[in-house]
Amino acid sequence: MKRVLLVLSAVLSITALASFADAATVGSWSKTCVARNSITGIPEPVAEMNINDPSLGFFAFTSKLPNGGWLTRYNLALAQTVPSDVLIFLFYHECAHAQVPTASEAVADCVGLRSMQSDMTVTPAMIADITRAYAARGRPFPSGPCN
Ligand SMILES: [Zn+2]
Repeated sequence: MKRVLLVLSAVLSITALASFADAATVGSWSKTCVARNSITGIPEPVAEMNINDPSLGFFAFTSKLPNGGWLTRYNLALAQTVPSDVLIFLFYHECAHAQVPTASEAVADCVGLRSMQSDMTVTPAMIADITRAYAARGRPFPSGPCN
């Protein structure tokens, strides 16, 4: 599969975006989300697609494919407006949608944050960046209580 870079500095140079990737990349950080295929139960990489549509109201969206696999669409038009630590959190949030699996934003926030914290140090400044990005979209962070 072709690897597509989710790099802020590259956003402006990307025009037609319909490529699939197997890893999210933000600067020097890169990670592949692995989730169970909803039909076979076999863990597999979550496909990723970069789109660039400012009229769409989402940063990223994860959905089930007809073959039971998962696809995360990243909307670079909005992604370029947030700091890189928010983009990295966005990966963990979207990955949680596929891994749990869940449609709940609160669960994706809480599970995603725990996964991010197990991979790296998540500083209060990073939490503040995520909270600010959510507030700019009219949402609290996390979207609901974490149990
Ligand atoms: Zn979500």
